[in-house]
Amino acid sequence: MPAARESGRRAGKAGVMNQEFLSRRILDLRPSATLAMDAKAKKLASEGRNVISLSVGQPDFKTAKHICEAAKKAVDDGMHGYTAVGGVPELKQAIAAQLTRDTGARYAPDQVVASPGGKFSLYLTFLSLLNEGDEILMPSPCWVSYPEMARLAGGVPVPVETKEEELFTLTPEAIERAITPRTKVLLLNSPSNPTGQIVPPEFIEAIGRLAEKHGLWCVSDEIYNHLVFGDARHKSIASVSEYCRDHTVVVNGASKTFAMTGWRMGWIGSTVKMAKAIENMQSQTCSNPCTIAQAATVAALNGPMEHVQEMIAEFEARRGLIHQLLNELPGVKCSLPQGAFYAFPNISGLYGKTIGGVTVKTPTDFCEVALENALVAMVPGEAFGGRDNVRISFANSRENLREACARLRALIVS
Ligand SMILES: *Cc1c(COP(=O)(O)O)cnc(C)c1O
Repeated sequence: MPAARESGRRAGKAGVMNQEFLSRRILDLRPSATLAMDAKAKKLASEGRNVISLSVGQPDFKTAKHICEAAKKAVDDGMHGYTAVGGVPELKQAIAAQLTRDTGARYAPDQVVASPGGKFSLYLTFLSLLNEGDEILMPSPCWVSYPEMARLAGGVPVPVETKEEELFTLTPEAIERAITPRTKVLLLNSPSNPTGQIVPPEFIEAIGRLAEKHGLWCVSDEIYNHLVFGDARHKSIASVSEYCRDHTVVVNGASKTFAMTGWRMGWIGSTVKMAKAIENMQSQTCSNPCTIAQAATVAALNGPMEHVQEMIAEFEARRGLIHQLLNELPGVKCSLPQGAFYAFPNISGLYGKTIGGVTVKTPTDFCEVALENALVAMVPGEAFGGRDNVRISFANSRENLREACARLRALIVS
């Protein structure tokens, strides 16, 4: 259990006298460490310091022009009201077609629900699947929000250890060891935030068979499925078997593929019954996703893909660059990312060294020293349940990646 969480829990109990108006679920909640690091970096930047932020998880590209034009047209055409809760029919149609292309499993419009962001799609999915005390397996390290959202939904997140020497791949053996009679859901995230690695297709198949054997549901967060490099291939667990198709919620969205993080558009594909459940939950909590963003997303899904291909090619060039630059730093080792836009180097070679006046013992020490002394913002691996790594987002220009690594080198060898 990370220290931050433990102390948060203690504060929750000890603070009952002064804070009793806050619910238990709020007192138990851990704020997003990735956003916390970003806030520190922004503060330094606002003081006029030249910070290079390698901490935040969004493409550094603008949304394509034809998508923006569709949104402007929607405004001018008077699309200012509520829509159907899970999205207008054109959007559901476009999402169903995209999910069918992406996963290789067939989805009809009544099997999809559009929501304000993939993150909210995930939360609604957890709320629809988990009862109090149900266990949900998730890879470790993993994205900061999974355990928190699972707990909010009453579930018990159970980390499944992955090994750096196996490229953080979730193995069927490790999953099987973690299964108990209370296990209900298995969460997959490939390509992975924070590791940038993918689960190879043959493992996905074995994991699918395992899910069937133990009667598990799968939640497959495929938000980075288009950001896959070199020979690596993404395979959706929904395509493994009929069982898997009928017991999987695929989560995706416009944020990463179309550089549309601020538009807040995510979606799920699953069975008709699951889609109805999620839509009901959404109808009672937030209604439809933004009407204008829906029109933009229809244009994104049905429009040309050249702008996406160009973005992917640029990310692929940068992943080669960052991989090389990081491995040239003394005490730093980095495996080649296969997807998403994150490198996850191991910095344990720096432990015990005094850098910027601080004896580095953890990734957090290193990230704090690097931000203060080199003005480079990264996220410590502990935030994701990792031990010896830091997450570096290469959604930044090649020039900034070079400059950031030069600063880190100067800091480390000083
Ligand atoms: C960015 C991201 C999402 C979804 O983000 P939204 O902007 O809410 O669509 C989901 N999962 C992971 C792992 C992410 O990094």
